[in-house]
Amino acid sequence: MLIRDARFLTSNSRADLCPAPTLPEYAFIGRSNVGKSSLINMLTGRNGLAKTSASPGKTQLINHFVINDNWYLVDLPGYGYAKVSKTSRAEWARMINFYLRNRANLMCVCVLIDSRHSPQAADLEFMEKLGEEGIPFIMIFTKADKQSTAQTKALVTDYLRKMSEIWDELPRYFLTSAETGLGREDVLDFIAGVNEQWVPDAATGA
Ligand code: GDP
Repeated sequence: MLIRDARFLTSNSRADLCPAPTLPEYAFIGRSNVGKSSLINMLTGRNGLAKTSASPGKTQLINHFVINDNWYLVDLPGYGYAKVSKTSRAEWARMINFYLRNRANLMCVCVLIDSRHSPQAADLEFMEKLGEEGIPFIMIFTKADKQSTAQTKALVTDYLRKMSEIWDELPRYFLTSAETGLGREDVLDFIAGVNEQWVPDAATGA
């Protein structure tokens, strides 16, 4: 997919105030510092489109970007900040749950995983919840340039083994690097393919 245009659209603190569900939507989420902003900038080819690392405790916002005027890329607030209060954590959970359950145009959640770390409870739990809710998702392993390909592959294998303990079917996954651009075409082509399944009236109720 060629990115002709990528624009910031809105920031919302409430999921019910997000833009009308008139385009297919892909939500990006992961633990803090996973490389989400860098990945969004790499995929769109626009440095600075997603702001890198908002500090924890700041208002948690759902950021919508519109790509090529035909799909939404959504930057969701991350999870797993060590220093966040119980109240903020509960607010995050309420906002994200509402968003995930009610966003009629949500085609796929892209769960970002740092390819250097062994499987983390926060990620496994989040994906388990998506599975329980029947929400389609893929795994995007980030920062693959930080180690050898063999090391990344070993970690991915480890991850999938862990996931196969609870899943019959494993999600699709992609290896990426914001540094080298690895995985860019694969992820964009995946999105282009899913976009073909978009049925506008089904989401808007028109
Ligand atoms: P976010 O908090 O998930 O949005 O993460 P950021 O995109 O702000 O990235 C966190 C840190 O990881 C920053 O210092 C980035 O420069 C670094 N980073 C992100 N992606 C990559 C990558 O693919 N390769 C390398 N080497 N560093 C990365």
